[in-house]
Amino acid sequence: MRILMIGINDAGKTTILYKLKLGEIVTTIPTVGFNMETVEYNNINFSLWDVGGQEKIRPLWRHFYADTKGIIFVVDSSNRDRIVEARNELHKMLTDDELRDAVVLVFANKQDLPNAMNDAEITDKLALGSLGERHWHVQSTCATSGEGLHEGLDWLSNNVILKTR
Ligand code: GDP
Ligand code: MG
Repeated sequence: MRILMIGINDAGKTTILYKLKLGEIVTTIPTVGFNMETVEYNNINFSLWDVGGQEKIRPLWRHFYADTKGIIFVVDSSNRDRIVEARNELHKMLTDDELRDAVVLVFANKQDLPNAMNDAEITDKLALGSLGERHWHVQSTCATSGEGLHEGLDWLSNNVILKTR
């Protein structure tokens, strides 16, 4: 089973991966301009990369969509200038048929920064209400302290299991 951790650059994905201490993190470059980090943990493959820009490499992401049961979408809650870009990337990705059953956990990261958008505002700005039947959840996090990360993963494991039963 695969979990994808996705988000535009600087959202905090790599920081989260290191904070979770799941195991040895392997950085691979499947192709130029596509830098991916992976960790194997309890038979779950966590893969992460930066989404956004570079339309040319977008088709390559699809190779990693198969067997994906959960998506962790990380946003920098303090960056109001880039929240629209984040929303567009999330929705664009979710149109892929391979991801139709994937549940979505949003990490509303960088909650320690002044003026960070709260859960309700992130829900609104990411237009999560338009996702229809899909299971989704917003979890406030601070990757640098680790706050909220395990709570979020608990939600993910509960919901992924429910969906596959
Ligand atoms: P990525 O591009 O999504 O992998 O983002 P990184 O993990 O490299 O983080 C980008 C920057 O944001 C780094 O300087 C991190 O230290 C910082 N950062 C990540 N999470 C947090 C957080 O929760 N709070 C604050 N204040 N900074 C964070
Ligand atoms: Mg990174």
